[in-house]
Amino acid sequence: YTPINYVNTHSMSIQTLQVLNNDGLNSILQKVGFAITGAFVIGAAAYVGYRAASPQKYIIPNRHPESNDQIEKVLESLKISDEGLIKIMQVLEAEMEFGLSASTHKDAVIKMYPTYVRHISDGTEIGQILALDLGGTNFRILLINLLGHGRIDIQSKIFLIPQRIMVGEGQHLFKHIADCLSDFMTKENLLSTGLRYPLGLASARLTQWTKGFSCSNVVDEDVVKLLQTAIDEKHLNVDCVALVNDTVGTLMACAYKDPHTSIGLILGTGTNACYMEQLDKVGTWNGDYDEPKQVIINMEWGAFGDNGKLNHIRTKYDEEVDLSSLNPSKQLFEKMISGMYMGEIVRLIILDLMQQELLFLGHNDGYGDYKVPLYSRGGFYTKFVSTVETDEGIGFSNTRRVLEDIGIRNPTYDDCAIVQHICRHVSKRAARLAGAAVLINRINKPTITVGVDGSLYRYHPRFKRNMEKCMQTLVNKNIKGEDQFQLALSDDGSGKGAALVAAVADRANLLKS
Ligand code: ADP
Ligand code: MG
Repeated sequence: YTPINYVNTHSMSIQTLQVLNNDGLNSILQKVGFAITGAFVIGAAAYVGYRAASPQKYIIPNRHPESNDQIEKVLESLKISDEGLIKIMQVLEAEMEFGLSASTHKDAVIKMYPTYVRHISDGTEIGQILALDLGGTNFRILLINLLGHGRIDIQSKIFLIPQRIMVGEGQHLFKHIADCLSDFMTKENLLSTGLRYPLGLASARLTQWTKGFSCSNVVDEDVVKLLQTAIDEKHLNVDCVALVNDTVGTLMACAYKDPHTSIGLILGTGTNACYMEQLDKVGTWNGDYDEPKQVIINMEWGAFGDNGKLNHIRTKYDEEVDLSSLNPSKQLFEKMISGMYMGEIVRLIILDLMQQELLFLGHNDGYGDYKVPLYSRGGFYTKFVSTVETDEGIGFSNTRRVLEDIGIRNPTYDDCAIVQHICRHVSKRAARLAGAAVLINRINKPTITVGVDGSLYRYHPRFKRNMEKCMQTLVNKNIKGEDQFQLALSDDGSGKGAALVAAVADRANLLKS
């Protein structure tokens, strides 16, 4: 806009010039006139130069390339109406009953595992605890200082688990974890304090280690025992006292601050949720019926649809993602939602539109350069979806950067608008499915907080908003309204919560130290 201002200033000066002329100050006027003309010429040149350097900025398109009929047809397949979501919620609830009931549990796809966690932390625990959070992508070690009154101080570090260890023997994974723990404890000066530290392990991968991890010998083994053996071999002063699912950790961590928390939700590499259920609704419960008559249920909802119940909403892109995954025909709900797959869905749609000659025209000539990320599986990262959707307006600076990263040189305005449109559809579908599935109607309390952990939720610019909008429409009237339900980001929640469970499990020792 600078050049436009420039012109305005100039025309105002002309008026001033005329007034002065009447006063007969010719020589001054001439100089001022030259100066103004000179400035105008420079300004105009700068303007032309500016336009030439960034041609897209000044072409204000009144077209909407993304609303091309053929493109709409492709994206239509990703739309799920509110009525559609309500039906999905009903199916989900039936599947949940299947998982909870002792007679049908074996064949249920949503397993609804009762955990041993019955109490929600009350914020009074105090002490130093270690936690490990083993997600599908990241492995974090945390040192947690519980200060009481819901206050927590955390030191944490993210470690990488090399691919060869992820796909290797279980023992190697735990040996690697113990090595990282030893490094961490050395840096935090915890090794020679004369204390033994309780440790809580949070993991997304207790029942199946198939999402990225495919360690053999880990499924069904006593994970705590494996980890403790590895810890003892390194002579670390650590006792692994608790193992929780990452959803449970998230619920616990959030409840430490907000007692209305009754759901824990993960939206990271994978997706899953847990919630507090009344014991009399848990047919598979074989523990005591003491107070409180409730238990946290780990839903394992990623498997929703593995028996075909979601086939009516799955697209050909979902099928393709599934077929090329490590665990075909498993975790079908998760594959429509989570960070491990979202970018890949976008990539497959992009390729389809290219094949139909609706996108990246000109890049098809000579059939492109097949070595660029666009053509390889996983080449479009889920974090790119966030980056692309961060762009507002018509500049598309982030989208351009992403497209150049995946091998599209000089993308046009149309290319950017269409790719952003695809990302919006894919992430919105994911958010709406997650929102519908959170099923706060079942909890049926007047005030509900959902604790959420995971990078997809944390970093995507619209995920939270899209989920909330959808939940507002679907939720029972009695829990409707601003303060009645809320989604609360629980930073590092999985690990924090595991530490809280460990703190409760090891209360006696903590008090001594
Ligand atoms: P984990 O699942 O291992 O606990 P995270 O919660 O950090 O780890 O989730 C990792 C997932 O989040 C990956 O699948 C990654 O694609 C996705 N992710 C990372 N950064 C972003 C981002 N900026 N926007 C959306 N998704 C992201
Ligand atoms: Mg995680």
